[in-house]
Amino acid sequence: MNEKNEMSIRFDSYSVNEGFARVAVAAFLSDLDPTLDELADVKTAVSEAVTNSIIHGYDNRIGKIYVSCIKQNQQIQIEVVDYGKGIEDVGKAKEPFYTTRPELERSGMGFAFMEAFMDDVEVDSAPGQGTTVRMVKQLGTGE
Ligand code: ATP
Ligand code: MG
Repeated sequence: MNEKNEMSIRFDSYSVNEGFARVAVAAFLSDLDPTLDELADVKTAVSEAVTNSIIHGYDNRIGKIYVSCIKQNQQIQIEVVDYGKGIEDVGKAKEPFYTTRPELERSGMGFAFMEAFMDDVEVDSAPGQGTTVRMVKQLGTGE
């Protein structure tokens, strides 16, 4: 199907909902016949972004997380949005091993994984406003 096809979900930032978001995106993509590797890549990227919204964005307060996904011509675009505390320095946050929560045994690799597994990752964030992570991947490139 070459028409643009979009879904969006909204859920509370309970950590149990991370699995729901990951599976919901995977289910939406299933008709594109992704390879197991592609599916694993997308699920990991969604999982990292949603976990960040839960742990960092809302800091275990309960707020709303929005995940939307657009598919067209085997290309997918996924957005993960929170209205939590935001990121002061996005460039720094994207550096491998950079974490503001070492006490939680975070390794600072979330953004590095998103960038490794997706073709493009853009982050829009402002302190006190929240964070939008937009990720794009072309399926079926046989890589
Ligand atoms: P890991 O993902 O390996 O468990 P991490 O979450 O600290 O560790 P990244 O996912 O790369 O590492 O994120 C780096 C840093 O960016 C975080 O430590 C946090 O300070 C900030 N950050 C990421 N996402 C958000 C968000 N949605 N809201 C606020 N801060 C964020
Ligand atoms: Mg992370």
